[in-house]
Amino acid sequence: MKFRKELDPLAPYRPPRVAEEAEADRGAVGDANGYVKLTMNEVSFGPLPEAEAAMREILPRLNRYPDRHAGSLREAIAGANPGTDPRNVLVGNGSSEVLLNVLQLVEKPGEVLFPWPSFGLYAAIATVLGMKPVKVPLAGDHRIDPEALLSAVTPETRAIILCNPNNPTGTHMNLEEVRGLAGRLPESVLLILDEAYHEFVSDPAYGGSHELALETPNVVAARTFSKAHGLAGLRVGYGLAPEHIADYAERVRFPFSVNLMAQAAATASMLARDKIRERAEFAVRERERLGEAFAAAGLNYVPSQANFILVETGPEVFERRRVLVREGEALGFPGWSRVTVGSAAENDRVIGALEGALPAEAHPAP
Ligand SMILES: *Cc1c(COP(=O)(O)O)cnc(C)c1O
Repeated sequence: MKFRKELDPLAPYRPPRVAEEAEADRGAVGDANGYVKLTMNEVSFGPLPEAEAAMREILPRLNRYPDRHAGSLREAIAGANPGTDPRNVLVGNGSSEVLLNVLQLVEKPGEVLFPWPSFGLYAAIATVLGMKPVKVPLAGDHRIDPEALLSAVTPETRAIILCNPNNPTGTHMNLEEVRGLAGRLPESVLLILDEAYHEFVSDPAYGGSHELALETPNVVAARTFSKAHGLAGLRVGYGLAPEHIADYAERVRFPFSVNLMAQAAATASMLARDKIRERAEFAVRERERLGEAFAAAGLNYVPSQANFILVETGPEVFERRRVLVREGEALGFPGWSRVTVGSAAENDRVIGALEGALPAEAHPAP
C-alpha cells in the first residue's frame, strides 16, 4: 500500500536509556544505588489516597462500560473552575486527546502555529491530521514572543497552540498577555492554551484562563491529571471552552475514551484538590531550591514556573549520581538538560551531583 508521505518524518517515539528508566519505574528510588527518574515531569508522589480509594471501590464494576459522558468528572472539573458549567468541559484520554479533538474541529488543510522549542506532540498531531505545523521561535530569553506569533498568522492559520508554562523552558505568559494575544487574533483562529503545568505557577498574574475561555469564542484551555495530580499512568485530561467548542469536541471524541478507573480517580482527585495544591506548593519550593543550587554551581538555567528546570549542562553530570534527566538535544537545547523537580531526597541527589560540575568558564547566573 501507499502511505501518506507526510507521515514519513514521524519517527516512532524512542525514549532514551530505556533500561534505566524502567528500573527507576519499578521503584528502586530511595535505594542509594537505584536510579532516580526525573525525565518526564511526573510528580514523585503516588495518587492521592482519595483517588486510590475511588479506584478500589470501582474495581469490581470493571465489567461495565464507563459513563460515556463522564458526567461526574465534568461536574467536578466545572466545580473547580468558578463560572464554568459541565457544558464547558471537555474530557479526554490524557490532555493529548483533548488537543487532538480540538484540532479535529478546524478546517483542513491549514496551518497550526506554536512557539518553538515546545512540546513535540503538537507537530505530530498537526501532521497526522493533514495540517502544516509552523514553528515560531521563542524570544532570546526563552519566553514566548506574542508579536512573532501574531506576525506568523496567515489566511491559512487555523490554530495557535500556546504551551503555558512552556515545556521544556518553564517560561510563562501571564493572563493579561494571553488576553492581549487572544484579542488581536482573528476569531477564525482557534487559540489553544496547553496548561499541563498550571498548578505549579507561582506568578499570581497567571491564573484565570477559564474565564478567558468562557468570554472568548475561539479560546480553549487544555489541562491534565498527568502532572500535579500524579495520575499520568491513567491517561486523563480535560479542557475548558465555550459551550459550542465543547459540543463539537464531543462529536469527534472516541466513545468511552476516558475509562472507568480514570473517571473515578480523576473525579476524587479533583474533589480533593486542596491536597493537590499543597503538593504543588511543595514542588514550587523545591524548584526554587534547585534553582539556587544551579546558580551556586555556576550553571546557567531558565527560571521556571513549572515542575522542571532547563539547565545548561549535560545529562552525564546527573547520571554520575544515578539521576536520569531528559537530555536537551531532543528538546531543541543541545548541551542542556531538563530536570524534573522530584521528592526532597531525589532533589538532594540532584544537588549532590552538582559538586564538581562547575564549568571551566562560569556561566553568568540569569
Ligand atoms: C505532560 C504534558 C502534557 C500531558 O499530556 P497527557 O496526555 O495529559 O498526559 C500535555 N502537554 C504538555 C506540554 C506536557 O508537557
